[in-house]
Amino acid sequence: MTLTPDQIDRHKRHILLKEIGGPGIGKLRNAKVSIIGAGALGGPCALYLAAAGLGEIEIWDDDIVDRSNLQRQIQFADADIGRSKAQLLSERLVALNPDVSATARETRFSADETASGDVLIDATDNFETRFLLNQIAHESGRYLVSGAASRWSGQVAVYASGVAPDAPCYQCFVPELPPEAEACDEVGVVGAVTGMVGANMALEALKLVVGSGDALIGRLLIIDGLRGENRVLKLRPNPDCSVCGQ
Ligand SMILES: [Zn+2]
Repeated sequence: MTLTPDQIDRHKRHILLKEIGGPGIGKLRNAKVSIIGAGALGGPCALYLAAAGLGEIEIWDDDIVDRSNLQRQIQFADADIGRSKAQLLSERLVALNPDVSATARETRFSADETASGDVLIDATDNFETRFLLNQIAHESGRYLVSGAASRWSGQVAVYASGVAPDAPCYQCFVPELPPEAEACDEVGVVGAVTGMVGANMALEALKLVVGSGDALIGRLLIIDGLRGENRVLKLRPNPDCSVCGQ
């Protein structure tokens, strides 16, 4: 793969890193990800991946921009209220980097749909879709990059039960719908924390694609924005897991 002078210019700060370099730029260009959710987590995640030259980005979201989203979904502008999030975000990605192919799927992701990415990125705000994506990732042998944010804290992990034999899946960690399951509509969330989670999700996806560093497989990064602390919890496979158990 050869890079044009413009592409070398655009990606210079990544090419300078030995863990990415020219070969990493090539891997990113040939990669395809599916991002489910174009909101507070999917927005920054998609923007960083497009900026890094990730070749094909599929964006799933059936929602439209509401004024109450703009406190954290900074990929949108005030003038975007009422327009499709998936469509707008796709346009933003191509505007940022015309080399990127972005596809808007303006529908709610369900079991009837097919996510075509090599890496699945869970940027949703509901457990039903999280469970579904986890099952699809496990059965199809794909990585699942997963993030969540609520109030002042965020979580990021990579689930790889379909790729690595000893890796836990999302349902090893969350076996069933938590009784206190709540979307950020009901509980409040700090916009900057969602940005931290989305950026970390992009970072994990980038490492998986270029094959560098240690992805958060079997580990859960917990961001405590209020205290200014991060922690990493070890996640273990559950032999009785309904998705990946024996
Ligand atoms: Zn499991």
